[in-house]
Amino acid sequence: MLNVKVIPCLTDNYSYLLESDSVLAVVDPSEEAPILAALEGRKLDFILATHHHHDHIGALPALKARFPQAQVLAAQADAHRIAPVDRWLVEGDQIKIGSAVAEVWFIPGHTTGHIAYVFKQGAAVFCGDTLFTLGCGRLFEGTPAQMWQSLARLRALPADTRVFCGHEYTLESGAYAASIEPTNLYLQKYLQKAKVLRAQGLPTIPL
Ligand SMILES: [Zn+2]
Repeated sequence: MLNVKVIPCLTDNYSYLLESDSVLAVVDPSEEAPILAALEGRKLDFILATHHHHDHIGALPALKARFPQAQVLAAQADAHRIAPVDRWLVEGDQIKIGSAVAEVWFIPGHTTGHIAYVFKQGAAVFCGDTLFTLGCGRLFEGTPAQMWQSLARLRALPADTRVFCGHEYTLESGAYAASIEPTNLYLQKYLQKAKVLRAQGLPTIPL
């Protein structure tokens, strides 16, 4: 069983607090204060990074200093630009948060060291800035071919997989999608739901 709490950070970033059997992990710690608030006095056991951008690891050093027993996990390919890290990850590695098991996928494109955490049993993927709701991340470092391959892998996940991405871009990406497919009724319904959530200040992730 994997519980996920969405933690809005900075302007439009999302960090996530994962809980399984009382083991706690944070994914992409952007900002310390909202993460501490979500922890409600509990201790972190794991800190997971998807990639090296500051708006995803900005609070990593402070959280590691505050919870020295917490294991920090990040991509081996980012070894020169994420610190401190306790375990370096590569494609196919498995990690365990309580009884929840995630597979590590190497999905370059947005950056050359980007990884995703794929919880097959919990039907959840934490994909950072590679795939967003109705959009994808910018190619800062990788090639279009790399990004295409990474997106194709994510697309092949089961349809009920919850996509926990790094930013709240749903309405912006949705407006673009609607300009391409103005007669797509499913998209219009989906955007309507997203607009209601955003009007209430709620995340559209996962939707
Ligand atoms: Zn990024």
